[in-house]
Amino acid sequence: MLKKIIKPFQEVLLDKELCVGCTAPLQNAKKLGNLTENSELVICKCKREYIHDKRMNKYRRATFQEEQQYLRSLKK
Ligand SMILES: [Zn+2]
Repeated sequence: MLKKIIKPFQEVLLDKELCVGCTAPLQNAKKLGNLTENSELVICKCKREYIHDKRMNKYRRATFQEEQQYLRSLKK
């Protein structure tokens, strides 16, 4: 039995904090603003949006709902 499942390529890139689209380092991505106390929305130069988890220091793709949540928070 295989103990380790091979990760999808996108996850490997995110583990390395690289954009899955253009492989630019996500540390250089532009911060759009806080989504929650511990997470912020960042946008890569290729327009892909990511959630930066500040506690875990991890990146993942932003969901459509999170993008909407952020857009709503701008209007307040
Ligand atoms: Zn990118």
